[in-house]
Amino acid sequence: MKSMMIVSAHSADWCTRAGGVAIKYVQLGYKVSAIILTFGVRGESRQFWVDHPGGPAELCREIRTEEIRKAAQYMGVTAEYTDYDDYCLTMDESRIRLLTKRILEIRPEIVLTHWIEDSLNPDHATTASAVIKALGAAARLGAFPDTPALPFPDVYFFESTLPNSQFNRFEINTFLDIGDVYEKKIEAIRCFTAQPELIPFYQDCAIRRGREATDWLRVPGKKIMYAEAFHRYLPYLGKEFPLIDRNLLGEK
Ligand SMILES: [Zn+2]
Repeated sequence: MKSMMIVSAHSADWCTRAGGVAIKYVQLGYKVSAIILTFGVRGESRQFWVDHPGGPAELCREIRTEEIRKAAQYMGVTAEYTDYDDYCLTMDESRIRLLTKRILEIRPEIVLTHWIEDSLNPDHATTASAVIKALGAAARLGAFPDTPALPFPDVYFFESTLPNSQFNRFEINTFLDIGDVYEKKIEAIRCFTAQPELIPFYQDCAIRRGREATDWLRVPGKKIMYAEAFHRYLPYLGKEFPLIDRNLLGEK
């Protein structure tokens, strides 16, 4: 069974930024695993703190755990979390080593994570940097000598912090049409009750990315209604160039 691994700094990032792709790849028969490094208790649980001034933080953790469980189950994704502190997340040598070990166990064909630059939300950039370090280590024969090394999988970085992703110089070189799974993605985002603001952000984002993708499509009368945007990190390797299949994209 092929697998996709999504590494997320906070509770909902994986679902908001790559939820459509995750649902699509579940439908394609992939095992999709979301690795969530923090619950975002300090920095990405605004509504919880509005509703529960003073906490306790432990209750926030419980609520966020349940949100992740519900969203993942609804999408057919396997979710796991490490409950590190956020704002500021630190990924030291031992944590990167654990991530390397998990990569070698999951052995993904595709890895999704945050864009490498995010001065508005440094936990995201920390996560991206840790993933690249862990993937680099996993590709070495000596990382865990009892486990076969894993050549670099395809890596895609997803959206930077919205609504101002251009502030972090997010460079898009890949769009995926998520029109067939868009409603399901939005339903999954509704599971994250500690962040209701995410719903309009990512509705708008999907429409905007769809509009941008349609501009590249350039098929008269066809429109990509909703898309997710990515930056492909590693070069494509093949015997032929990958081709855009315009027949499968968009709606009349
Ligand atoms: Zn986040």
